[in-house]
Amino acid sequence: MNFAYQRNILMIVLMCVLHTAEAQNDVNNIQLPELHRDIQRKTIRVPSIEKYITLKCDFHMHTVFSDGIVWPTTRVLEAWEEGLDAIAITDHIESHPSKPFISGDDNSSYQLALPAAQDYNIILIKGAEITRAMPPGHLNALFITDANKLDIPDPIEAIREAHRQGAFVFWNHPGWTAQQPDTCRMFDIHRQLIEEGIIKGIEVFNEMEWYPVVLGWCIDKNLAVIGNSDVHDINDHYYPLHLYHRPMTLVFASERTEAGVKEALLSQRSVAWFSKYVTGKQDLLNALFQGAVNVSRANGKDSRGNSMITLTNNSDFIFECQSATPGTPSFTLQPNATFIIRYKEDIHPLSALSLSITNWYTHASQCLKVSLSL
Ligand SMILES: [Zn+2]
Ligand SMILES: [Zn+2]
Repeated sequence: MNFAYQRNILMIVLMCVLHTAEAQNDVNNIQLPELHRDIQRKTIRVPSIEKYITLKCDFHMHTVFSDGIVWPTTRVLEAWEEGLDAIAITDHIESHPSKPFISGDDNSSYQLALPAAQDYNIILIKGAEITRAMPPGHLNALFITDANKLDIPDPIEAIREAHRQGAFVFWNHPGWTAQQPDTCRMFDIHRQLIEEGIIKGIEVFNEMEWYPVVLGWCIDKNLAVIGNSDVHDINDHYYPLHLYHRPMTLVFASERTEAGVKEALLSQRSVAWFSKYVTGKQDLLNALFQGAVNVSRANGKDSRGNSMITLTNNSDFIFECQSATPGTPSFTLQPNATFIIRYKEDIHPLSALSLSITNWYTHASQCLKVSLSL
């Protein structure tokens, strides 16, 4: 055996050993970082109005600590991913179907969610749902200190206990057919609790239902307008989030804090936003519209001699605009989009544009009217 032959054999053996070692590493553990999914927060585009910040809030949802199917931290992560600012987990005081499998009490969902809320800068409001037959039906209590103390047989005493804890109490899903099969009506006990200043708001929207008549009650009785998901499922499984944001309450707060949310609710500075609808007081809706839409008159004319007005929607809202100005069309202004109104200035000279926003409601059957000066 010559020296060159021996060297070649040695090299082949060495390469086999190295290759075998490499192959063994691959068999043990191959990392696939391309399968990691970053959690990213969606931006909800809504304008601030006047001196207030617009906070995106959902004040009604459930976890495994009542009849929901998710752990409390999931509610925080969903809210962060979907672009919300504040949530309240409002598990039923009276319904615990998972109790044979899960220990804890009516304060547990808040305690478990709080560290995640701190990590993701979500305002977590301590809440609970007082869940009784109609009347009074179901009511949510926000900003409570001890949910366990709401477990009182007499429903009115439970509501009064929430009030003693400094709660903002609102009436949930008043038109829910399981409790009001024929109509959506207010009972004497609701009137009394409103007059006493204990019920301070009502859901005009819940889950997939909206109750126009309730918007009228809120406006007439100066109550906060509330709209919530009441989600029990995984939110992304329940709502078509690629089409619409989840139903929510927009709150106009002086600061992005829990105290800011409470002060705004107590001052009735809120509107409900669900699907393509926005509902609330005329002045708040008008301020939102004016903040979201830029209007400008184009210089010159198009090729057919039309004058042009450009409307740009800098928000995620949808505006279905019915024009009351002669010579101008009705149209839908889509989210984050621009529409051009073309008109004959010599036939219909314009100094202002009057629009009815037919999917924005200011009362049971009244829609928002706006006037845009040109
Ligand atoms: Zn309920
Ligand atoms: Zn509920």
